[in-house]
Amino acid sequence: MWDENKTMKCLVWNGKHNIEYTEHPRPKLTEPKDILLRVTATTICGSDLHLLKDTFPGMKKGDIPGHEFMGVVEEKGEGVHKLNIGDRVIVSFAIACGECSYCKREEFTACETTNPSTAMEAVYGHKCAAFYGYSHLTGGVPGGQAEFVRVPFADFNCMIVPDDIPDEKALYMTDIMVTGLHGNKCAEVGEGKTVAIWGMGPIGLMAAKWATILGAKMVIGIDCVPERLELAKDRLHIETINFKEEDVLKRLPELLGANELDCAIECAGFDYTHSWLHKIETFVGLETDTSEIITQIFKAVRKYGNVGLIGDYVGLANHFPIGAMMEKNLTIKSGQTPGLRYWDFCLEKMRSGEMDPTFLVTHRGSLADGPTFYKAMCDQKGGLIKVFMRPENFDQNAEKPVLLDA
Ligand SMILES: [Zn+2]
Ligand SMILES: [Zn+2]
Repeated sequence: MWDENKTMKCLVWNGKHNIEYTEHPRPKLTEPKDILLRVTATTICGSDLHLLKDTFPGMKKGDIPGHEFMGVVEEKGEGVHKLNIGDRVIVSFAIACGECSYCKREEFTACETTNPSTAMEAVYGHKCAAFYGYSHLTGGVPGGQAEFVRVPFADFNCMIVPDDIPDEKALYMTDIMVTGLHGNKCAEVGEGKTVAIWGMGPIGLMAAKWATILGAKMVIGIDCVPERLELAKDRLHIETINFKEEDVLKRLPELLGANELDCAIECAGFDYTHSWLHKIETFVGLETDTSEIITQIFKAVRKYGNVGLIGDYVGLANHFPIGAMMEKNLTIKSGQTPGLRYWDFCLEKMRSGEMDPTFLVTHRGSLADGPTFYKAMCDQKGGLIKVFMRPENFDQNAEKPVLLDA
């Protein structure tokens, strides 16, 4: 798995609130359908903070995080036919084999073959696909906050990026762009709909952007971080509610006026203080995920309304409002985005100029700045929404890293 004779720089997870920039052996090809990717750009996801805070179980000391990355094909196995050395590609965060029944139905995040862990099956009845740079419950695959990554089933999981799309835009197709779009698809957002979004992190902001592109007549973003709400107002021109200052259930109808809320998108996710694994072990009657947000959503959305749930949830929630769901005829769709499905649409909307993900990129830097960026994101300080990181010695002339002063 590692070529001990060659080294690279990368971030590693050494435990709770301990992400380190360090030297590491380079990955090597192990399967015929692998490529070795030389990473040219990567970023930190809101979901990486679950790892930083050690609230998502299954990390091991020394794991390389990162599931949003792109780069150039450095080496390829003999089973790789579509990609060539030197191609500039983005990589799907979920690893799909392209051949199992789930992949054939384009249910890529449910691929049956790429995640060797069986821990999920005990709790969910099934397991999901492997993800890069996440827990060993999702395969423990080394991630892309590194100079090099091994990419399995590369022909299937990579897209060659056209020359007219810069890295600064293409990178965000790996997760936030397709996840935000998936939230809209789940909530059946379309022409003339009213949409409220709980959680205005990068995914929520992206979901709001898509909602306007898809023709929503009113979009309302809900959060409590001033910088996020300002960005939503200034750049997306949507209505916002600060839930720490206003009663969401009172403010929503005021903003909606004569309309009702057709669609709700949950981009916030679970929030808990104890480890999931421990709770699986003791399991029955314990809560791992809060049902507070979903309860508010079920109250806010109109009868026969649609709910898209794309924030991360992992275990059990007490007081789930099943009555409201049934009696109000609500439709709930959820899940990790099958991103490969949406790449062509994203490309089309970037080329038309309607979608430009750079509005939420607030900080640039190198991989070496990774630990600082993690901390700033976790502390929600310095107005950091999304970062763009190059490898430290990246030779592309221009940009000076913008470092945080706090
Ligand atoms: Zn992500
Ligand atoms: Zn598959």
